[in-house]
Amino acid sequence: MGLDDRDGLRMLRDAVDPRLGGVETMREFYTKWFAIDMAVRDLFPPELTNQFTVFSQALTFLFNELVEQRAEEPVAFLAQLGRDHRKYGVERSQYFSMHEALYTTLRSRLSDNWDDKLDDTARAALELFIGVMYGAADAEGGPPFCDGTVVEINRVSRDISVIRLQLDQPLPYFPGQYVTVQVPQWPRRWRYLSPAIPPDPGGAIEFHVRSVTGGMISPTVVVETQPGDRWRVSNPHGGMQIDRNGGDVLMVAGSTGLAPLRALIMDLARFGENPRVHLFFGARYPCELYDLRTLWQIAAHNPWLSVSPVSEFAQDPPWAADYPDVQPPRGLHVRQTGRLPEVVTKYGNWSDRQILICGGPDMVTATVEALTGKGAPPEQIQHDPLSG
Ligand SMILES: Cc1cc2nc3c(=O)[nH]c(=O)nc-3n(C[C@H](O)[C@H](O)[C@H](O)COP(=O)(O)OP(=O)(O)OC[C@H]3O[C@@H](n4cnc5c(N)ncnc54)[C@H](O)[C@@H]3O)c2cc1C
Repeated sequence: MGLDDRDGLRMLRDAVDPRLGGVETMREFYTKWFAIDMAVRDLFPPELTNQFTVFSQALTFLFNELVEQRAEEPVAFLAQLGRDHRKYGVERSQYFSMHEALYTTLRSRLSDNWDDKLDDTARAALELFIGVMYGAADAEGGPPFCDGTVVEINRVSRDISVIRLQLDQPLPYFPGQYVTVQVPQWPRRWRYLSPAIPPDPGGAIEFHVRSVTGGMISPTVVVETQPGDRWRVSNPHGGMQIDRNGGDVLMVAGSTGLAPLRALIMDLARFGENPRVHLFFGARYPCELYDLRTLWQIAAHNPWLSVSPVSEFAQDPPWAADYPDVQPPRGLHVRQTGRLPEVVTKYGNWSDRQILICGGPDMVTATVEALTGKGAPPEQIQHDPLSG
């Protein structure tokens, strides 16, 4: 039976489903894995609660796809996971210890129902999961990550830093993609950041980082990054792109969500003729529209680009005086006051545009809802995943 045993696959799925106690299953799995292979513990950050949840969601998705007898998406997902894990330095033997720990955990959680048939099914599913991950990791030829040195930091606002690095070797990615980054202040904790410039053959790369209130990594990155810090960058992901023959473009950027859209705009600037691009760039305060001068310069030389600055509040807070003046010379659209979803949809539903949205999860969700609510076709809207 193996992978044809849909009832067995359902039982395995329910055992890992976070809504049905799967997080506890994951706790048991990691405890077993670290016990049989102590070197694995060093690959993970000290606190694992988030890891339990993320892994139980991933396994639930995988078992569910198998229940539905679909293999294409799970295989692509597992292959990506395997390639991603190269950056942690996972070794071949650790895939085997993972297999063993996962098998014994599932067996103990489902002991009341465990029989030869379920055993077959569990073994077949785990062999698929681990085999595809390991195979994809093994097949990848290039280095698993790229190190680089911070060469410049601009604290452009109270909560935002623009950080430039020189990588030891160029990192291949497409404009609009995001990468995973590890900073020396927080070893072994990776976060997604989006390069704000297209890939550079000389290895230059730029990130725009906003400090998230209550966040673990971003406040440190914004405040404590120093020239000379060594960062580790890996794994380009994401598929935000512009079809140059696909009609005009609407971009909506909230705060540092500007970064990937800016990389796409800079990439377009290589061509003389482009679709028209209208960018709404929003922030809470006018002083937080940190990149208006660069956008003004690009728009001044590229008539296909127009930029509308938007701030939620009309006035700057007192601390604005401590940071650079972001106002560009005259020439951009006049700054508007309001929240991005409302300001953008004031002009209609933009249904004839390719629409790219980037920013914090709440802003992206609200903007997608406002646009589709007005009639923009969802299939024309692109955005990155809302969380890591
Ligand atoms: C595809 C992708 C690309 C990204 N690119 C960038 C980028 O170029 N520049 C950048 O500054 N950040 C970017 N981020 C966000 C970044 O990866 C981190 O999530 C963010 O910096 C918070 O990390 P932290 O460790 O400080 O917070 P955590 O300790 O991980 O989280 C603390 C709390 O903040 C919430 N939170 C997480 N991210 C955000 C957010 N963006 N806005 C509001 N609340 C949040 C979490 O849900 C949690 O409740 C990107 C995220 C994704 C998914």
